[in-house]
Amino acid sequence: MEQSCDNFDSPPAILGGTPVRPDGPPDWPPRDPAIAAALQELARTGAWGRYHGPHCRRLEDLLAAYHGLEHVELCASGTVAVELALRGLHVAPGSEVILAGYDFKGNFVDVLTIGAVPVLVDIRPDDWQIDVSRVEAAITDNTQAILVSHLHGGIVDMPRLRELADHHGLPVIEDVCQMPGATVHGRRAGRWGDVAVLSFGGSKLLSAGRGGAVLTGRADIAQRIRLYTQRGNAAYPLSEMQAAVLLPQLEQLDRRNAIRADNASGLITLLGEVPGLVPLVSPGEGNAPGYYKLGLQYDADAFAGLPRDRFAEAVRAEGIALYPGFRSLHAIHSRRRFRAADPLAEATRADAAVLTLHHPVLLGDDGEIRQVVTAIERVRQHAAAIAAAT
Ligand SMILES: *Cc1c(COP(=O)(O)O)cnc(C)c1O
Repeated sequence: MEQSCDNFDSPPAILGGTPVRPDGPPDWPPRDPAIAAALQELARTGAWGRYHGPHCRRLEDLLAAYHGLEHVELCASGTVAVELALRGLHVAPGSEVILAGYDFKGNFVDVLTIGAVPVLVDIRPDDWQIDVSRVEAAITDNTQAILVSHLHGGIVDMPRLRELADHHGLPVIEDVCQMPGATVHGRRAGRWGDVAVLSFGGSKLLSAGRGGAVLTGRADIAQRIRLYTQRGNAAYPLSEMQAAVLLPQLEQLDRRNAIRADNASGLITLLGEVPGLVPLVSPGEGNAPGYYKLGLQYDADAFAGLPRDRFAEAVRAEGIALYPGFRSLHAIHSRRRFRAADPLAEATRADAAVLTLHHPVLLGDDGEIRQVVTAIERVRQHAAAIAAAT
């Protein structure tokens, strides 16, 4: 590995200096011999071309056992999984679904797809997860579900949400696309919701290029999803090929999550020293977050006014995969599409200030973790020059 020099005086890569990581961020998915073996086996047996085979069934069984949830429906993507979860809950056209003003755009679109109205609730100032204390005020007679995502290493306050939802007789969809295998307030991520969703997209921690899953302990929800996907023919299926490459990754998930968590915690400590960057860390007991992304709150004032997107670009030029976060949902959709339950002040702030570090570097060694900090410090030292050059 190229040894980074902690010399911040050398010019940043975006102004012509040598990048901290000249070869760029580590690859994803990893070059895993077990996956190569699975693909060879598919080629040998012809299972890759079949509609029905053992891989999907085995993946369903393993995911069910891993989560302690009886029913697993594999599907084409996490976005489809959210749609199926909403359909499984029988959310009716014209009804309302509560979600955070800062969330994955596909979730908002899924609510529209089934003909319901997204009702947006603000996020917490500290960790930018849905502010559960604001959810109750968003509930009306027309509310039929609450959809929450654990995002960027943060964790939603599920015990409090569960209590509130039960009090109002409302089902919860728990989106664990960003943290399969995490522990959320003492339970496996996905266990707090009436229904949980996973994504197997190409950048995700469990990756098949595409794919997703809906998980539930409730037979009625599973039955409705099956009726929907199996009308006439299988709609939105996952293939044997996708399941075959996921099986070896599931075996590695706990080990890799532990490495990522260890590195993330070291990085969070180091980044805590950098003015203007606040890692998203959720309060509460019994949490072991997963890290698809490590989220940060960015304060341009601490970086000579360098705009967030330009800062991320400068850090990427150093070979570190740092990106702006999602756009907030109210910032990119017409007011006619949703109802805002409150002024969404924090979601507005997050829209301009979320940064996310992509996960592959979190499987690296201490030296690679320090390179992240070196890159950020180098850009900070030269922020005024970078801003002036923009
Ligand atoms: C990735 C993701 C999804 C689903 O993504 P697909 O690309 O459709 O599989 C849903 N929710 C969150 C929070 C995500 O990060």
